[in-house]
Amino acid sequence: MKNISVIGAGTMGNGIAHVFAQNGFTVNLIDVNAAQLEKAIATITKNMDRQIAKGSFTEEQKTTALQNLTTYISIEEGVANAELVVEAATENIELKLKIFKQIDAAAPVGCILASNTSSISITKIASATKRPHLVIGMHFMNPVPVMKLVEIIEGYATEKQVTESIVALSKQLGKIPCVVNDYPGFIANKILMPMINEAIISLYEGIAGVEEIDTIMKLGMAHPMGPLQLADFIGLDVCLSILNVLYNGYGNTKYAPCPLLVNMVTAGKLGVKSGEGFYTYTAGSKDLVVSSRFK
Ligand code: NAD
Repeated sequence: MKNISVIGAGTMGNGIAHVFAQNGFTVNLIDVNAAQLEKAIATITKNMDRQIAKGSFTEEQKTTALQNLTTYISIEEGVANAELVVEAATENIELKLKIFKQIDAAAPVGCILASNTSSISITKIASATKRPHLVIGMHFMNPVPVMKLVEIIEGYATEKQVTESIVALSKQLGKIPCVVNDYPGFIANKILMPMINEAIISLYEGIAGVEEIDTIMKLGMAHPMGPLQLADFIGLDVCLSILNVLYNGYGNTKYAPCPLLVNMVTAGKLGVKSGEGFYTYTAGSKDLVVSSRFK
């Protein structure tokens, strides 16, 4: 595989485009929002500069990698020569079904269609196409250039050969692939989200404060950040939507989202991206300040 198309140039899409371009692939990065495409190229450039400062990348490699990238607003044009499409658009099932129908109609026969979805059924996404055997989950972790794991999700109809190609390709990107079956939340979020939810429930019930909960999990379990800070980083709306997928998918109340999480999302307190969640975030400041709501 040489020609890769990435759909969605947000947090994950720009990271996925970055690692493919850095590893010599030709990348077509597609987004409906032209400003988002500009922002993505600026982010990729900034992140590559960071790699150069650390000594793990050179100016020449950066120039070549950036030359490997082309941006598109149209899905039809952007996937016309693709051997693999990785979709990383907004986590919304109706949107993903629409996008996969579009890609299926425009991408070459034999092109593999992957989704970076955190929680939506790959089997369901595949049902929007006429090539369900070529549809697979390729779940990168955030931030993509740094995180080693790729969770690979086999849909009900995914062909073994497709899984093998995506496993090999992930290794080519310097990543470590793990193959799992297509059930709600896959593995990463089926285990992570109940932990985050339990941290929010503990805060809601007044068992401990934000700092205590995060410090206990950081120092006690050697987690690089506490569950509440991680929830802010992922986005509280994203956490809520994944918990709902688990709750509805397994029909088990152990996955029911904490009412505090529901309230925070309703109030627009989404974490880092909105400037406030369990902590407040000021542009340019690296200090971790607990939100006044929880002091
Ligand atoms: P994001 O909101 O940062 O970016 C989504 C992008 O999709 C936006 O730029 C938007 O303009 C674009 N988009 C929307 N509709 C489109 C369309 N029809 N065609 C092309 N582009 C379109 O979201 P994100 O955090 O990058 O998440 C993307 C996917 O990755 C989601 O499925 C999410 O669940 C998954 N994911 C996210 C994380 C994370 O930590 N953020 C981690 C793993 C997986």
